Amino acid sequence: MSKAYAAVIVGGGMVGATAACALAQAGIKVALVDAHNPVRDWPAETVDIRVSALTRASHNILQAVGAWPAMVERGVGPYDHMHVWDADSAGELDFDAADTEFTELGHLVENRVTVAALWDRLEILSDASIHCPAKVADIELDSSAAKVVLDDGQILTTEILIAADGRDSSLRQMAGIQTTGWEYKQDGLVATISTENSHQYTAWQRFLPEGPLAFLPLKNGQCSIVWTLSHQTAQEYVVLTEKDFLQHLEQASGGVLGEMLSVGPRGAFPLRFQYANQYIAEHFALIGDAAHAMHPLAGQGANAGLLDAAAIAELIINAEQAGRPIGSHKLLRQYERWRKGDNLAMMGSMDMINKIYTTQNEGFRQLRGSGMSWINHSAWVKNYFNRYAMGLRDDLPAFARS
Ligand SMILES: Cc1cc2nc3c(=O)[nH]c(=O)nc-3n(C[C@H](O)[C@H](O)[C@H](O)COP(=O)(O)OP(=O)(O)OC[C@H]3O[C@@H](n4cnc5c(N)ncnc54)[C@H](O)[C@@H]3O)c2cc1C
Repeated sequence: MSKAYAAVIVGGGMVGATAACALAQAGIKVALVDAHNPVRDWPAETVDIRVSALTRASHNILQAVGAWPAMVERGVGPYDHMHVWDADSAGELDFDAADTEFTELGHLVENRVTVAALWDRLEILSDASIHCPAKVADIELDSSAAKVVLDDGQILTTEILIAADGRDSSLRQMAGIQTTGWEYKQDGLVATISTENSHQYTAWQRFLPEGPLAFLPLKNGQCSIVWTLSHQTAQEYVVLTEKDFLQHLEQASGGVLGEMLSVGPRGAFPLRFQYANQYIAEHFALIGDAAHAMHPLAGQGANAGLLDAAAIAELIINAEQAGRPIGSHKLLRQYERWRKGDNLAMMGSMDMINKIYTTQNEGFRQLRGSGMSWINHSAWVKNYFNRYAMGLRDDLPAFARS
């Protein structure tokens, strides 16, 4: 059986579901395909180990597509200060919401909260159809349209096929798009912890020889940690007893939040630098992690993906309203030019910061400490970094502007 849609999106994670909401609420018939149904209900006292720091730009996008109110209902945690310091030098940096026009620097949100709110929203948009659970068996791209064959035999035809199926995107492979990148040989160890001292709605990040350790303040008073460690150390730490793990964590924290009291389930995610050599093919575009995977040290992966979703949705909506084809090569090239450079710049900065802080040369260590202090005392430079980290850059998609 064959069904026709203006757009088909494969992957209903944060990025794909955002693009689907943006298109459907503009009256564009869109199908969202995902292999798994996301969790929508969970016991009140539990916290997802996957938490993302969402920027002001992402907040604006999620507000514009109608998901933010449901996210607030399910729980989002604002933070208004960020303290970054180097374990091996005197370097430190502070960012404060008081230096901006906003009451917070961003929000910490469990990934499941964002995805559930987006799927709730999709269910009430009459132009959105969900195919789930369904996997893509094959795709065909040619000059007239894209065709998606699902593993249950259904065929979806569309003017534009958008792949948001994550870092190991099978659609990217099916479209014949190669990637460039490398493994960091580091893992991001994540967990939820309780600490003796209050987090003070501050995001704390300490740079250590193996990588940064971040304490991200949650609404319930706990912290979500993202601890970058060598792959080997991370694999050891995920299976340590709670007591031993907390001891290592407390030592690594430099005591900033007092005693580490308890830790929930732990997970370790191997980190990779990877970008797709092209973002587009005939009637086909990559968004989110399918297009780029970056180091999580500044928590920008999902934020970058949400900007991709907002950019492609804006181009499609404008083309539709102007009566132009929505899967044209011209539109796709516009999308690629808009997002690829910005994403590469962000990925490059994350990669450089990771290298700077994992270098153990003494002279270099002192230099980076002085550099941090210089930035901390230079209001203009600090303000630039602050706004960049909040996603407030030039050339933002309309959905990302407040
Ligand atoms: C430790 C760690 C911490 C992070 N912290 C932050 C942070 O603080 N802030 C931030 O912005 N980012 C952060 N990130 C990055 C962020 O998690 C990712 O960038 C984001 O989740 C990518 O979303 P996505 O929707 O592109 O892909 P995914 O979340 O991977 O979603 C892909 C979807 O596609 C579906 N799918 C896959 N294959 C198929 C198929 N063949 N057919 C159908 N469906 C399919 C999957 O079921 C899934 O729903 C972090 C990453 C790590 C590893």
